[in-house]
Amino acid sequence: MLNIDLHCHSDASDGMLPPAVLVARAAANGVDVLALTDHDEVAGIAAARAAADAAGITLVPGVEISVTWEGVTVHVVGLRVDPAHPALAAGLAGIRSGRTERARRMGEDLARAGIAGAYEGAHAHAANKQMVGRTHFARWLVEQGHAGDLRGAFRQFLTRGNPGYVEHAWTSLENAVGWIRGSGGMAVLAHPGRYPFTARDTHRLLDAFRALGGAGIEVITGSHHPSEYGKWADLARAFGLRASRGTDFPAPGEGVELGRVPALPHYCRPVWENWPELEALLSPASAACC
Ligand code: AMP
Ligand code: MN
Ligand code: MN
Repeated sequence: MLNIDLHCHSDASDGMLPPAVLVARAAANGVDVLALTDHDEVAGIAAARAAADAAGITLVPGVEISVTWEGVTVHVVGLRVDPAHPALAAGLAGIRSGRTERARRMGEDLARAGIAGAYEGAHAHAANKQMVGRTHFARWLVEQGHAGDLRGAFRQFLTRGNPGYVEHAWTSLENAVGWIRGSGGMAVLAHPGRYPFTARDTHRLLDAFRALGGAGIEVITGSHHPSEYGKWADLARAFGLRASRGTDFPAPGEGVELGRVPALPHYCRPVWENWPELEALLSPASAACC
């Protein structure tokens, strides 16, 4: 059975492992095909690719783009992107430059709530200084004793209505899908179950995403409860979208471990159908979970 994990983070964004260490860990966990999908960043892909070659697994170059759709943050994963494609690279650089200003304002907001030094603390937690994000703030808040764990840090801080939350306009859905497709990649809506949408708005999002050229949605992800898998598998089918599987692994001891989520339901059409680089792996002799 092939283990295909198409969503994870290295320390090029808010994961904690360097790309090569992440890939070695995936291989040790039995992952055969891994997509590195850092937030708004492709700087980890070269090292990940070299490590995947050394470990004998397949690396899919990816990215997870931050989007604002109708005032809500949604994430779009790009798979099989060309990290050197000029429009993609320029678009991601633009998003990263907005992140630094946002992080400073998050620090100021926490200071107004009596928590000083948060920007500097989060900055120290980030290996990629262009990519200071809420996860780095959360890790610092836990380390400083302001929250008991990461979940608590997001519940008490960093989320809408709480100290440290700053409204931010990410890029448009159209830009994200356009950059991904323009670089030769496939756009996949990340963890659709995580957004605060009504069923009606979810359907509108799926329609809009598909109309722009979006190809799939994550059905099996560390962000979905097992009771939701069937719903998203059905919606993928109903909207003519493919299904993806990924853990969204951030760091050892946080979230779901690399490769450790269930297989896609058998009736899903996987995003990886017809990927040439998987042809040999997916030959009838080796196909099972896919
Ligand atoms: P940012 O792009 O800086 O807004 O950070 C987004 C990341 O924060 C997400 O990809 C998650 O990994 C993490 N995150 C967001 N909300 C939560 C939450 N409630 N609990 C834990 N992690 C969260
Ligand atoms: Mn995400
Ligand atoms: Mn992610």
